[in-house]
Amino acid sequence: MTSIAFIGLGNMGLPMAFNLLKANFDVFGTDLNPDFVAKLMEAGGHGCPSIKDAVVKADVVVTMLPSGTIVKNVYLGEGGVFEHAKAGTLFIDSSTIDVASAREVAAAAAERGFDMVDAPVSGGVTGAAAGTLAFMVGGTVTAFDRAAPILDPMGAKIVHAGQAGNGQAAKICNNMLLAISMIGTCEAFNLGRKLGLEDQILFDITSAASGQSWSLTSYCPVPGPVPTSPANNDYKAGFATALMLKDLRLAMEASETSGANTPLGEHAKDIYTTMNDQGHGGVDFSGIMKMLDGSL
Ligand code: NAD
Repeated sequence: MTSIAFIGLGNMGLPMAFNLLKANFDVFGTDLNPDFVAKLMEAGGHGCPSIKDAVVKADVVVTMLPSGTIVKNVYLGEGGVFEHAKAGTLFIDSSTIDVASAREVAAAAAERGFDMVDAPVSGGVTGAAAGTLAFMVGGTVTAFDRAAPILDPMGAKIVHAGQAGNGQAAKICNNMLLAISMIGTCEAFNLGRKLGLEDQILFDITSAASGQSWSLTSYCPVPGPVPTSPANNDYKAGFATALMLKDLRLAMEASETSGANTPLGEHAKDIYTTMNDQGHGGVDFSGIMKMLDGSL
């Protein structure tokens, strides 16, 4: 049986690890929070007190951690993954982190003869629980081919985006576009209301016209037209503003280092920073609608 070390059993990591258990992998989990490790054990996994204990016999290591600094530390630091993994272990980092850190860790893995992919996800905690995440994967073809059967029980879509770091690049490009299109969609409804247009009528026209987008037809930021969207539940996340802001910051950092011109991405980051700083980091990112009409 393939044994998998899972490091980072938080909101996303724990349900992902549950799906690996359901697919009959042997899972050795660790987290700074012992309560999360206990939950893995209740579900049939092995709880480990340290990275060393989780990794030492693993065939695959999956990490689901908050930031690039933490990911670097977990792989490269003292007592970390590189120190204790056996030869041939495959590394999968599913955290959302900056492209530069992802490439740095992947290069360090390659120097030591390990295969590694960055495999950030979209789909949130619901997708993690349902095993329907979308994985955007960066790394060699060999590493991708090894990673795909491990990602399969956790995801509905697994796309190879190219070289190491390209998974992270795809994720931040997508989310920058999503932030911009969501703000635009909210502005259109806000203007429409001021001009006396009913939300449903504007939706019916726009969804069949050139303003159509995922933000409008799958995640409509006003209540009514798309009953499953967070707007119908007073903008309870969903995809929290604080998480969108994290991705926009990563995107703007990458814009700066790569020299890409992204003025609307920068503006979107400023708008989400304001919303977050006003104490609304937990509100769904489509809650921009309430910010525009002054009801937030
Ligand atoms: P989280 O904060 O709930 O979980 C992270 C876990 O990592 C925590 O339980 C923490 O204790 C653990 N951790 C931190 N440092 C550690 C260390 N050194 N050793 C062991 N464990 C350590 O975060 P999350 O919501 O699960 O998100 C994880 C990653 O997934 C982030 O990069 C996030 O941006 C990304 N992501 C989250 C969502 C979402 O909806 N929550 C969606 C897509 C992507």
